[in-house]
Amino acid sequence: MGLSTLFIKLGRSRPATILYFEVRCANTIDERERALAWLYHELSMTLSFITIRVFMSTWQSALAQLLNIIPLKLSMAEGPLLVMWKEDIQPFIGKKVMAVENNTKLDADRMAGKTIRDVKTWGKHFLICFDDFTLRIHFLMFGDLYINRRKPPEKPIKLSLQFTDDELVFYNCALRFTEEPLDEVYDWSADVMNDAWDPKAAMKKLKAIPDALVCDALLNQGIFSGVGNIIKNEVLFRVRVQPLSLTGKIPGKKWDEILKELVTYSYQFLEWRKKGEFQRHWEANARKLCPRDKVPFIKAYLGKDQRRSFYCTECQVLYR
Ligand SMILES: [Zn+2]
Repeated sequence: MGLSTLFIKLGRSRPATILYFEVRCANTIDERERALAWLYHELSMTLSFITIRVFMSTWQSALAQLLNIIPLKLSMAEGPLLVMWKEDIQPFIGKKVMAVENNTKLDADRMAGKTIRDVKTWGKHFLICFDDFTLRIHFLMFGDLYINRRKPPEKPIKLSLQFTDDELVFYNCALRFTEEPLDEVYDWSADVMNDAWDPKAAMKKLKAIPDALVCDALLNQGIFSGVGNIIKNEVLFRVRVQPLSLTGKIPGKKWDEILKELVTYSYQFLEWRKKGEFQRHWEANARKLCPRDKVPFIKAYLGKDQRRSFYCTECQVLYR
């Protein structure tokens, strides 16, 4: 880079409050990582609607690198990331837990001496299966899984499972045990990345909520488990549907397209994420201009949970 410092201003807006963080990153990877670690900490202490405004400077390569990292951290909760982790920890299946480090109220010691039988995901639930019970992990907004490495010591761990030569470390997540057989607890047909995914079952559930906004319907984990806010924004842009459209007013053919794209996009998300380049592929999410019409996107917090939406009124249709 050739320049000693990089200033990034992050503006975080939420109703009535705007907070600004200024992160000063030095040129070395170590210092940059420390600054980012601090930034994650600040962000994770606060609310969920985050806007990052980066004031462009001449240090574009550094910015590109940082931008590539930050949005990854902000999109933790989407299903494809869990699928990626599931693939990463396949080698742990069949291994016995030798020790447990536990900072939860859970009786986590029950896992000591037990062997991992399987690892599954259901949408945003990460499931580590033992013989008679399952550990369910929800990574919330900023959770993390580290395999055979840890964050700096000031980052409190929630849980660590230790094996003869390996370790799984969980951060910032909600944990619980499920005693029932998983097939009784989970509707696998709702998970867009599961082999059992059933678009017909989803259509049936959608028919029961004709007055729901499509932006809420796509985030409904009982219908589309694993679909998060980024996937919602990107898919609605791809299929040219505005987020405030009503579920019951969207034509059947358009729904076929939406369901197909939810699956396609989730797998693309996974592939891009593996290459560490997925933010680069966003067309609508966090973008200013519609790439089709070159007009500004509408940015609004919509639906039951006021989730951040980006859409174009030129090319996306409002079905009401
Ligand atoms: Zn457009």
